[in-house]
Amino acid sequence: MSGLDEILTRVFGFADFRPGQREIVEAVAGGEDVLAIMPTGGGKSLCYQLPALEGTGTTLVISPLIALMRDQVRALRASGVAAGALTSGNTDEESDAVWRGLEDGSLRLLYMAPERLASGGMERVLRQSGIARIAVDEAHCVSQWGHDFRPDYLRIGELRRALGVPLAAFTATADEETRAEIVERLFGQDATPRQFLRGFDRPNIHLAFAAKDGPRRQILDFAAARRGQPGIVYCGTRAKTEGLAQALGQAGHAACAYHGGMESDARRAVEERFAREDGLVVCATVAFGMGVDKPDIRWVAHADLPKSIEGYYQEIGRAGRDGAPADTLTLYGPDDIRLRRTQIDEGLAPPERKSADHGRLNALLGLAEALGCRRVQLLGYFGEAAEPCGNCDLCDRPPETFDATEAVRMALSAILRTDERFGTGHLIDILTGNPTDKVRERGHDDLPTFGVGRAHDKRHWQAVFRQMMGRDLVRPDAERHGALRMTHAARPILRGEAGIELRRDAIARREGPVPRALVAEEDAPLLSALKAQRRALAEAQGVPAYVIFADRTLIEMAERRPRSLDEMARISGVGAVKLDRFGATFLKVVTGEAEEMHPARRKLAGRPQGALYDRLMEAQQRLARGVDGTDKPLSCASNTLSWIAERRPDSIEALARAPGLSAPKLDRFGRAFLDAVDEG
Ligand code: ADP
Ligand code: ZN
Repeated sequence: MSGLDEILTRVFGFADFRPGQREIVEAVAGGEDVLAIMPTGGGKSLCYQLPALEGTGTTLVISPLIALMRDQVRALRASGVAAGALTSGNTDEESDAVWRGLEDGSLRLLYMAPERLASGGMERVLRQSGIARIAVDEAHCVSQWGHDFRPDYLRIGELRRALGVPLAAFTATADEETRAEIVERLFGQDATPRQFLRGFDRPNIHLAFAAKDGPRRQILDFAAARRGQPGIVYCGTRAKTEGLAQALGQAGHAACAYHGGMESDARRAVEERFAREDGLVVCATVAFGMGVDKPDIRWVAHADLPKSIEGYYQEIGRAGRDGAPADTLTLYGPDDIRLRRTQIDEGLAPPERKSADHGRLNALLGLAEALGCRRVQLLGYFGEAAEPCGNCDLCDRPPETFDATEAVRMALSAILRTDERFGTGHLIDILTGNPTDKVRERGHDDLPTFGVGRAHDKRHWQAVFRQMMGRDLVRPDAERHGALRMTHAARPILRGEAGIELRRDAIARREGPVPRALVAEEDAPLLSALKAQRRALAEAQGVPAYVIFADRTLIEMAERRPRSLDEMARISGVGAVKLDRFGATFLKVVTGEAEEMHPARRKLAGRPQGALYDRLMEAQQRLARGVDGTDKPLSCASNTLSWIAERRPDSIEALARAPGLSAPKLDRFGRAFLDAVDEG
């Protein structure tokens, strides 16, 4: 075992490197200049944290966001690593401790925001301390063309020359221009860093799209199936973030809104809460972005179509960074397509740019309307070949398709015969032979197209038009609101030179992705108990839950059920220091002392009531603290829960008869308990 492997297991508790990590760690530890592009969740931080623990000297980490730095420092300290940050939020004592550690060489990692580099004297101070290397997180912030440009990143190149140390830069943004810009600005023209480009696949993220059909209901259903798990709902408008957060709150979730129109304090409060709490749902605009560094986000839903395929991948990529399964659902509909097209057409960009933007939107729509594995298509867009993944909605359930050549030609003909002046609703009236006033006033009931599509109903035609928009056969007219125009792409079909397959109306089948449990049913109660233990520790120490242990670590504990501290040490994520601090506590939970507390639950084992009992328990744990976190914890006796699990009351009155369910408890838990009963 090399020194690096030894540190990996002892300090971080990981048995193996993730793909690509070893080469990067070795290069960084070997003092090379490095530019590494890894997908979000690929495990970038380890690539500079691990080398920092080898040899002498301090690794200076430049990172753009204070909240992220503080969390990383906390996580490192929890593993027994001497790490510190110099940020504007520091107390004097914290800063003093950092300076001392830097002076006496005991500090392994020093985190700093780029703005700090501007302050007079910083460069001199750093030159006098033993800085061994510079690591730059989110290195694309140095690029002026990206949306995250931070002018102070431009100082890093100078600092590197002044200190004369190697530099390792990390980012998840990989396009070639940005890469070239990073190299030039951080390393200068003479240096040639070694580049590592790790693939884009995020195999643990389940991909799914659905056409909008009662979108609020669709989001609520998706969230309900993932109750108590932290998630993000991305919304197209600020108003929608608030409306959805409220609806989710009424449905018994801990939920809040986040958008650019909120005061920065309020936004920061949401970011903090999301990081700390275990099961918060944030309904947000894309403004909720880089500040989100939570590895255990279990799901991301899009209530509206994202802007582009790049945006889509970045947003869903925030889920499951810890490698444990994560779910996504993206909703889209004709209105989204219309909105995005209009935004592009009405924007101020030059024509070439507009047509490129339409192309990028097409790629996303193609993904939404795909007929085969979504991952194959997604990775293909990023230039990677892939096999059908078995972890997307279309692999789970291949869509039914039909030869739509005739239907599409009918629709195109209706568009052309009405001079491309009308929208979907009116065109469908013509096709299905619906003689509305508007149809008759304009004489459209005399068209040869009138009624040719009678064989199919309105829903079917809506699906056809949506898919035609998705395939860019028709586009909304920028000048005339709602009207559809035919594009070049449709010509071959109209002329009978090409055919087309479309998906049979997936809308009518009302299918959402099937929720998948993180562990098998028999391990679920133990996982809940482990999570409750983690929450208790995290709250006591005022740190986010994942700083104690990642979800994946708890999942592995629940599945492998270690019987001794030795076995506990072999669980991924349990390093020496964490074993010392938390090993015995979690071992107790595993070896059944926690189960001992609920003999009532054990009686229900193997019966459906058991699963309901667990849902009730989860609802209770979720609400125990009260939403603002100030209330005293409240909980029900296990015989209360088993009474409910056995009788399944379906009203508040019936529920009120449960033994031990006092008025305040009924107030707090009543709705959530009824929902839990209802779910089963
Ligand atoms: P990113 O590349 O997005 O910055 P992080 O560095 O935050 O990702 O790592 C994401 C998650 O993966 C973290 O929870 C981290 O602990 C975990 N991780 C990193 N390396 C490994 C490894 N070799 N084995 C298991 N988990 C790992
Ligand atoms: Zn697939």
